Amino acid sequence: MTNFRFSVCCLVFLIISFIGGYGAFLYENIWEREQQLHLTEITNSQASAIERRLERSLSATHLLAHQVRFNQGDVSAFDDFAKETITAIGGISNLQLAPDGIIRHIYPLQGNEKALGHNLLVDDRRKAEAHKAIKERSLTMAGPFALVQGGVAVIGRNPIFIKQEGGEQFWGFASALIFLDTLLEVTDLNELELKGYHYELTRQHPDTLNWERFAHSVEPLDRLQVTFPIQVPNSEWKITLSRPLPNRPLTLWHAVVVSLIIGFIVSLLLSYILKEPQRLRQIVAEKTEQLNELAFYDVLTGLVNRRLFMQQLECELKLLSRSGNKAALMYLDMDDFKNVNDSLGHSAGDQLLIEVANRIKTTMRESDIICRLGGDEYAILMMNIQNSNDSKIVANQIIERVREEILIEGRSLNIGLSIGITILPDDSMDLREILNNADMALYESKRLGKNRVTFFDYQMQQCSIERIEIENALKHAIKNDEFELYYQPIIRLDNRQIVMLEALLRWKHPEKGFIPPDQFISIAEQSGLIISIGDWVLETACATIANAVQHQEACVPIAINISAKQLLNQNFSGEVKERLERYSIDPAMLEMEITESIIMENMEDALKQLNELKEVGCRFSIDDFGTGYSSLAQLKQLPVDSLKIDRSFVRDIEHDHHDRQIVEAIIAMAHSLGLEVIAEGVEDQYQLDFVDKAGCDLVQGYLFSKPIPYDEIDLQQYIYLAGANDYSI
Ligand code: C2E
Ligand code: CA
Ligand code: CA
Repeated sequence: MTNFRFSVCCLVFLIISFIGGYGAFLYENIWEREQQLHLTEITNSQASAIERRLERSLSATHLLAHQVRFNQGDVSAFDDFAKETITAIGGISNLQLAPDGIIRHIYPLQGNEKALGHNLLVDDRRKAEAHKAIKERSLTMAGPFALVQGGVAVIGRNPIFIKQEGGEQFWGFASALIFLDTLLEVTDLNELELKGYHYELTRQHPDTLNWERFAHSVEPLDRLQVTFPIQVPNSEWKITLSRPLPNRPLTLWHAVVVSLIIGFIVSLLLSYILKEPQRLRQIVAEKTEQLNELAFYDVLTGLVNRRLFMQQLECELKLLSRSGNKAALMYLDMDDFKNVNDSLGHSAGDQLLIEVANRIKTTMRESDIICRLGGDEYAILMMNIQNSNDSKIVANQIIERVREEILIEGRSLNIGLSIGITILPDDSMDLREILNNADMALYESKRLGKNRVTFFDYQMQQCSIERIEIENALKHAIKNDEFELYYQPIIRLDNRQIVMLEALLRWKHPEKGFIPPDQFISIAEQSGLIISIGDWVLETACATIANAVQHQEACVPIAINISAKQLLNQNFSGEVKERLERYSIDPAMLEMEITESIIMENMEDALKQLNELKEVGCRFSIDDFGTGYSSLAQLKQLPVDSLKIDRSFVRDIEHDHHDRQIVEAIIAMAHSLGLEVIAEGVEDQYQLDFVDKAGCDLVQGYLFSKPIPYDEIDLQQYIYLAGANDYSI
């Protein structure tokens, strides 16, 4: 293709250059011819002007000869006759009569006196011509030559024969002298010279027969010249006219160069035009490939995208139903990816996604299909496995591999991965069901504490159905006033007084009865319903405080639980402030419990909301402390007042030496940050004594009271813990 294009372009280049060159050559020829033609015309007209003038002037000699013959040699009337003739004919300088060859009469005489007595028949320079005229009995012309009396002139001599007895007798000459300048006056030669023409007048010398120049322009002749003969008696003259070639718009070389350039440009253009379809084809192919890539592959990781994965999954399902083999579909989700994205930025997040994708790839077989579903979620289809254990081994390998240290932007990360697996065709062969099953298994992995593998089972499906039912029921719960707040006292250890109440949500389902918060809070969070539920809690807690203040009851601050979704809502702080104002509540009466993970997941936004509320005097405590990953440094930045040790640490204090150490460490750390510590879930005396000794400030738990309706709380009651059974309020 390229060779063909090259040959075509060369051919076109040659053709154009040849046509251009040949055209220029023709043009040059025509142009020169035109110039020559023009010059010929001018030269011709100059030659005939000279011829005519000379002929006319010389005719005077005939008239003079006739006069002498007529008067039989009497020349007394010469002067008058000559005068008349010169005037009538013009162009003649003087007329002469030379009887017997000796010049005797000249008109006008003045200035020509020297010529008188000049014997033409004996003068060496004149005699040959004079004798020739006599011999041939015809007019001869001499010159141009320098005159004795000065000037350059030609002379026409007419021999005069007079009839006498015995025949005609030579009488003498009738001559006309014509100055060269006068002769040339009739031509346009002077004018032409001014216009740049050059000329030369030559004659053949009668004696030597050489051509000699007798008049010429100042400048010599040019290359383009035309010569014309001028017929004069007994000799030949020539006039040559030349003209420098005027500047042509285009010389031959210019034209050749221009046509070469044009040829070159045209062939380049042609090459481009010929190349264009090829280039376009290539672009289309590249674009198509790019579109395919975009349509079917994930740009970031290069893995198959969801669309292609679903297509491939569908195909594999068909193969599977025919072959009877087993396959595993895994859903993988990075744990706490959002933390990395938020704290290190999106570019670090992208690097992490790529690195994890690479690690997954290197763990899998070629035949497995790996896909990035979106965000930090991946999916893998493992074909032809023996049993579920095969996929479990691989899944655990992936977790281990991903768990290994990842260095991103100088930071060392340990990334957990949660995996959910469904086995085909055991669990299902329906595409939608399969996807749901893998999703449920993944969700279960997350729920069970992340960084683990979970297989789908039908119980999960059951749970999932229940989840959907609960979600629907929750939507009605707020409208139907099915919620209630219970309050659990928080007791200060040094004086055993109730110093705060934690508001805990209770749902009394009209059919299912009491549903504990653990069963619906996470569903409410996932569905976003927690926003309106949380709002209801805030409103109710504020109303309770306001009511207590109004009735001048002794009252203590109420702590409400705030979920992540609520805190991420930009209007949250505004809404809280609005409630506090509407109910005219001292903000210190409202404490908000937030979990570590909420803050860590979105430090910036969360901090903004917390600081705004802190400014007006609200209080904050960190709930379930010890289950998240917050560091001391991060805690320092938070405007919190207290920290609640998670129930799970308190629960096993008696038997778990580890938990005891953790509780002691948390208390010491919190105090170093100036925070108060609340121990949750204190159920027995041992736990109480331990946390008390460890320096804990406040406690909360069944040992004192379960969460109960507000009306049932007696704040006035002092709590003494004398014996193990004496711990009711
Ligand atoms: P949480 O914030 O850690 O609440 C303390 C939970 O521990 C409460 O469970 C409480 O009844 C229970 N508890 C307190 N003392 C003891 C004890 O001595 N032994 C045992 N075994 N448990 C004790 P509850 O009310 O079932 O609430 C469970 C979780 O639901 C809460 O954990 C909180 O995370 C969430 N929750 C409850 N109410 C709300 C709410 O209004 N909003 C939000 N966002 N979450 C809420
Ligand atoms: Ca709480
Ligand atoms: Ca808690």
